[in-house]
Amino acid sequence: MTRRLLLLFFLLPFAAVATPAPTVAITFDDLPFAAVPAEDDAQLEAMTARLLHSLQAEQVPAVGFVNEAKLTRDDTLDPRRVGLLRSWIRAGFELGNHTYSHPSLNRIPLDAFEADLLRGETVTRPLMQSEGKSLRWFRHPFLHQGATPEVRRAFQAFLAAHAYVVAPVTVNSAEWVFAAAYARALEQGDEAAARRIGAAYVPYMQTVFAQAEQLALDLFGRPIAHVLVLHANALNADYFDALAAMLRQRGYRFISLDEALKDSAYASPPGSSGVEGESWLEGWARQAGLRPPLPPPVPGFVTRWAGAAALRGY
Ligand SMILES: [Zn+2]
Repeated sequence: MTRRLLLLFFLLPFAAVATPAPTVAITFDDLPFAAVPAEDDAQLEAMTARLLHSLQAEQVPAVGFVNEAKLTRDDTLDPRRVGLLRSWIRAGFELGNHTYSHPSLNRIPLDAFEADLLRGETVTRPLMQSEGKSLRWFRHPFLHQGATPEVRRAFQAFLAAHAYVVAPVTVNSAEWVFAAAYARALEQGDEAAARRIGAAYVPYMQTVFAQAEQLALDLFGRPIAHVLVLHANALNADYFDALAAMLRQRGYRFISLDEALKDSAYASPPGSSGVEGESWLEGWARQAGLRPPLPPPVPGFVTRWAGAAALRGY
């Protein structure tokens, strides 16, 4: 070993301490499915299997957030859809509550919202318990946290009383627009268009991450443990591995939501800037007087494929 190599050998551990690997917890909303080309059981099961397989291959400790309204068909609980949730748990992932029917806390009265939330644990809570796990995470639909400080405070007390922990989001994106476009292209049998949409998705997410990293740096003066929100859709079933490869290339390590929340950044109260649907990071930035950057533009052909679905939102 040369002297220079020896020196490098001793310095490397310090270099590693000085620049820790960026970390991210991955979460999926709108389980058991959002934006799929068809809602038949076989396709939903295949999509879920592909997504879970990618997560396991990448060793990603994800949490999935359930809307139990999607477990019913013709007002009847569909056991095969419940089976989709069971496969998430059996693959080693945790489930959280995302309300029953995905209402906005900014749009409906608090008591109606709370009733919808409790209805949303009817199946998931016993299912988790039967697999030896407990339900504890909650994710706000649309990331809407209540229009007034009073509602936000009262809802926080409600969550605490029911032993729920809020799952924040620091990296939000128009992933669902790409997903709507992708599902529609597949539905119409245009595989070339689907591939083009998929190929545009990962570079778009790379820009989203670059922006979130910079905003965290501007705000905290250091990288933070991020929480990414995605959806349980056909796009991620087919492209999560490419997304994960991009993140690993940026140096990311995948961590659990628990581990992410140990970052002191999450001790800051969530932003209440009044700008709807923004991430916690954007909210914190506004509170500190920083203006979050505009999200990167979604390519025109993607928006056109998404069509009406993109306007509806998820
Ligand atoms: Zn949602």
